[in-house]
Amino acid sequence: MNIPFNKPFLTGRETHYIKEAVNSQKISGNGIFTKKCQHLFEHKYGIKKALLSTSCTDALEMAAILININEGDEVIMPSYTFVSTANAFVLRGAKIVFCDSRRDHPGIDETKIESLITLNTKAIVPVHYAGVACDMDQIMKLSKKYNLFVIEDAAQAIDSYFTFPDGTTKALGSIGHLATFSFHETKNIISGEGGLLAINDEQFIERAEIIWEKGTNRCAFFRGEINEYSWVDVGSSFLPSEITAAFLWAQLEKIDTIQNKRKNIWNTYETKLKGKSKEFRTAIIPSFAHNNSHMFYLLFENHITRQEVILRLKKKGILAIFHYIPLHSSPFFEKKYEGLPLPHCDLYSKNILRLPFFNSLKKQDQQKVINALLENN
Ligand SMILES: *Cc1c(COP(=O)(O)O)cnc(C)c1O
Repeated sequence: MNIPFNKPFLTGRETHYIKEAVNSQKISGNGIFTKKCQHLFEHKYGIKKALLSTSCTDALEMAAILININEGDEVIMPSYTFVSTANAFVLRGAKIVFCDSRRDHPGIDETKIESLITLNTKAIVPVHYAGVACDMDQIMKLSKKYNLFVIEDAAQAIDSYFTFPDGTTKALGSIGHLATFSFHETKNIISGEGGLLAINDEQFIERAEIIWEKGTNRCAFFRGEINEYSWVDVGSSFLPSEITAAFLWAQLEKIDTIQNKRKNIWNTYETKLKGKSKEFRTAIIPSFAHNNSHMFYLLFENHITRQEVILRLKKKGILAIFHYIPLHSSPFFEKKYEGLPLPHCDLYSKNILRLPFFNSLKKQDQQKVINALLENN
């Protein structure tokens, strides 16, 4: 492909910090670079406690352990999401209750959640698709009313915000009891593989550190709070090495530059494509949500046209992709699914197309993509 879908962006400092980590002789987890990355999340985004993890998938698994998901507990989430959102809870025996997407946006339809709540419901997992916020005001109200945990899947939502009806604005990932971020190489800020668990409800902080450190109280031991560390709970090896954290730090220290570049690319697509074709529309961003330029997608009016356009672009060496296969109709879940049809979810799955989007996308290449899309108009 002449124009790939994604290219990892490097700030140029990654190997410098990795070298520093290697030379410091401290290359296992929870060292200086890990702490720098965690502090940035806590201070810039108002998260109570941040813990780096080896992936967003891992952070979701930590969240499921932290809220004590047991066999038979129900967890409500959109069907239009990545498989990890569900798997983390399935691994603990939860029953997944899939909710439809909004009509105007692929995020969970907050008006459909309440009818899915039962006595067994334990948590709601909103996914901020494309970094665009779900209605966190309504979702947090439901969580209070029914005493449920909210875990934000903020994998795509770094540096994005939600504005409450009273005008207060909060970073995504700082609102739910827990939240998870991804630094997979397809996200805005990357470390190859990597993630972060955000803890906003203080009751979880101590136990989260224990689960993170293989079920031991090693964190408290390193802080000098106890004389020896031992096995005190379940846990696993969820922390990344300092090599990964050093790479991540090189990205995080340049987050504003990275975000500005992405915003320019997003705005160019939006200006040149919005309202310019009968075949598709651009994204609708609800007024309470901000845009972190995670991705640029088009919504086609039908599936056949989308498939034709994918081929048309491919012939010109341009890779545009679609996702997700709805989880409720996936090979793993289809037979287990007992809920209602989810028409909006199906619609997004059939008709979304994601355009090439990466920081080093050249102006003339972006124009080629735009020209190819508008060819038939
Ligand atoms: C990328 C992504 C994940 C998984 O992130 P990893 O870091 O690869 O585990 C989970 N949920 C959503 C919505 C994602 O986009």
